[in-house]
Amino acid sequence: MSDDYDVIIIGGGMVGGCLGLALSQSSLRVAIVEAREFSEKQSDSAGKRAIALSWGSRCVLEQLGIWQPINDAAMAIKHIHVSDKGHFGKTRLSAESQHVDALGYVVEAAKIEAVVADSLKQSNIDSVCPASLVDYVVHDDGADVTISLNGKEKTLSCRLLVGADGGLSKVREGGDFDLKEYSYEQHAIAGLIKVESDVHDIAYERFTSEGPIAMLPHFDGLYSLVWTMPSELALETMQLPEDEFLDRLQSRFGQWLGELSLSGKCQNFPLNLSHVPNNTAERVVLIGNAAHQLHPVAGQGFNLGLRDAAILADVLMTGESDIRNVLEVYAKHRQLDQTLITGFTDNVIKLFSTNNVLFSVVRNSGLLMLDKIPMFKNQFARQTMGLGSRLARLKNVG
Ligand SMILES: Cc1cc2nc3c(=O)[nH]c(=O)nc-3n(C[C@H](O)[C@H](O)[C@H](O)COP(=O)(O)OP(=O)(O)OC[C@H]3O[C@@H](n4cnc5c(N)ncnc54)[C@H](O)[C@@H]3O)c2cc1C
Repeated sequence: MSDDYDVIIIGGGMVGGCLGLALSQSSLRVAIVEAREFSEKQSDSAGKRAIALSWGSRCVLEQLGIWQPINDAAMAIKHIHVSDKGHFGKTRLSAESQHVDALGYVVEAAKIEAVVADSLKQSNIDSVCPASLVDYVVHDDGADVTISLNGKEKTLSCRLLVGADGGLSKVREGGDFDLKEYSYEQHAIAGLIKVESDVHDIAYERFTSEGPIAMLPHFDGLYSLVWTMPSELALETMQLPEDEFLDRLQSRFGQWLGELSLSGKCQNFPLNLSHVPNNTAERVVLIGNAAHQLHPVAGQGFNLGLRDAAILADVLMTGESDIRNVLEVYAKHRQLDQTLITGFTDNVIKLFSTNNVLFSVVRNSGLLMLDKIPMFKNQFARQTMGLGSRLARLKNVG
């Protein structure tokens, strides 16, 4: 292991790992510093969460050369069905009408991490694990990064430091970043659900006055549930006996997939929106959840983070050696997409998580408009497919 790098990535999660992979095709010297052992992450139940990959993410993963093994473990979404409990509005988006094979794909997070880790092992990227960031100092030529490795502190240097260390980012904490945080005062219950229906290519988004419910096709006839509701109600719902829990879910979700039953235990976690509008600073950039943590029901967090990684790699590989210029170009390309997706997710959650009569009329006419006017429907589909923004070329990759 060297002490001197062009790029040090703190955090080898899905986003940091993909950035490492993209940069492995360049001549840049890159290290990924990851706090948790691979085996520990793979056995964590959080790895079971279903990630809906947009069509745009598929294109990036193809360029990284890892789409095939991910696709082998993916379920294709051919339709998205959006409805509002107790109201007339509903809309269906289809892959066929968008002229693509699928609107998106659902894969377990742990599977994506395993494929990325496998591919990184065969690359020229230095993996420093388990090791965690202690702190860093920025100077004119780069950054000195102190990590804790095998119980000892060690200092590495780099020209660019990337914070891909998730929602509680220490890179963000150590820099001059303005974190905007908003609590939805809601929790999401996530788990796997057995369904009676044999339909397995439709993703459902169901909006209720308590909050949205997403059901994504999973493997073996299962669906992956993300059920959002006010925090107090979620804590009470988690305490219910199984039959009452299922009755409550069924009454909110309806009969779109027939009778529902549980497959394993559900998890419950609080929902916040946090984002850093200006996520570049002198010699430092934040990407993925370190820069923006979104409500999971919209299924946009990883897709947005992957685009951060792809564009950053793209700009770094243009041969531009001045890191200030790299960060300026990166910020210019990413700002619109990040602002749009953060605002889009936030507005959808606020609009669809209320009982207010006026909002209810607006959201229903919105759904009808989506259904009847092809231009709106196409725009919504492009946004959910991750095609609403510039895609990275990643010319040298794959
Ligand atoms: C229930 C649920 C469902 C979701 N569904 C979707 C979906 O359908 N589609 C979608 O696109 N997104 C979805 N998301 C969001 C998605 O999971 C995240 O956006 C994504 O995991 C972010 O990846 P990341 O690499 O930025 O951060 P993380 O996955 O948090 O990775 C950060 C990494 O940094 C490491 N780390 C942290 N601190 C340090 C340190 N000090 N030193 C070294 N390493 C450190 C951690 O160990 C970790 O490996 C969902 C999220 C949840 C909770």
